[in-house]
Amino acid sequence: MRRIAFIGLGNMGGPMAANLLKAGFEVAVYDIQASTRERFKELGAKVSESAAATLHNADCVVSMLPASAHVEALYLGTDGLLSKIAPNALVIDCSTIAPQSARKVATEAARLGITMIDAPVSGGTAGATAGTLTFIVGGPLSALEKARPVLEKMGKNIFHAGEAGAGQVAKICNNMLLAIHMAGTAEALNLGVASGLDPKVLSEIMQKSSGRNWSLEVYNPWPGVMENVPSSRGYSGGFGSKLMLKDLGLALEASQSAGAAIPLGAKVESLYAEHCQTEAGAQDFSSLLASLRAGLFKS
Ligand code: NAD
Repeated sequence: MRRIAFIGLGNMGGPMAANLLKAGFEVAVYDIQASTRERFKELGAKVSESAAATLHNADCVVSMLPASAHVEALYLGTDGLLSKIAPNALVIDCSTIAPQSARKVATEAARLGITMIDAPVSGGTAGATAGTLTFIVGGPLSALEKARPVLEKMGKNIFHAGEAGAGQVAKICNNMLLAIHMAGTAEALNLGVASGLDPKVLSEIMQKSSGRNWSLEVYNPWPGVMENVPSSRGYSGGFGSKLMLKDLGLALEASQSAGAAIPLGAKVESLYAEHCQTEAGAQDFSSLLASLRAGLFKS
């Protein structure tokens, strides 16, 4: 596989496509935003003016879009990409979407003889840039093996979660847990600082104590505690609060269809829903701490 069509060049897709270019693949890219497409001309990508135009000679299609509706609109329907992709090509959708949407698109792909996997990622924008993402794959194992040389250029860990849609289920569980420990970390830091502690000292203590977790150690939400994280650049870049709210909505849907209660997941979903009503909705999800500090949530 040498020729890749890459669709969706946002916070995650941009650096992922750049890593494929660096690895020597021929990459044709498309994003609906013209300014985003422009940036890729300088990187040596073939910049296309439509998603369909990226397909020319492509033996692999990678997509990294915001949500289920974008993915279904891209691939399905009479004018959808699946109707134009060569039957022997491989499709890798890395977006985080509803498991039933992933299954719907994969079923249609299989009907047309196209191999497809859902391969949502974990690791954030830093992982996307460093090429150290974790891929959580749903679909046939043989399709994962076919995708492996492409995935290995963008990530470090590749897991097979199960059949089509299983990658999304695992990803949703992970992100619900992420939202819960981000909210918990924000609360602990806010309480400590409001009680007179230094956020850096408190973070160091908790990093070596039983409260340690990824939000605290890798993605600290208190501005200035860590370098190179969204909280230290005005909560810009990173993983948007609205995308986290979307994932928590997917967790609620999954909990209903599986009959598995998620009381903490539901609570943190309502916190993010409230947070997203403020301007911070456009900022990284760690900005929940800013809403907490501003007194948005009444206990
Ligand atoms: P983003 O909003 O930065 O990027 C999405 C890109 O898709 C945008 O550039 C947008 O213009 C483009 N787009 C939308 N519709 C399109 C279409 N029809 N055709 C072509 N381009 C289109 O989002 P992101 O942060 O890159 O996240 C992408 C996906 O990855 C989401 O599903 C998100 O939940 C997931 N994710 C994000 C992170 C993170 O840290 N940002 C981490 C893991 C997973």
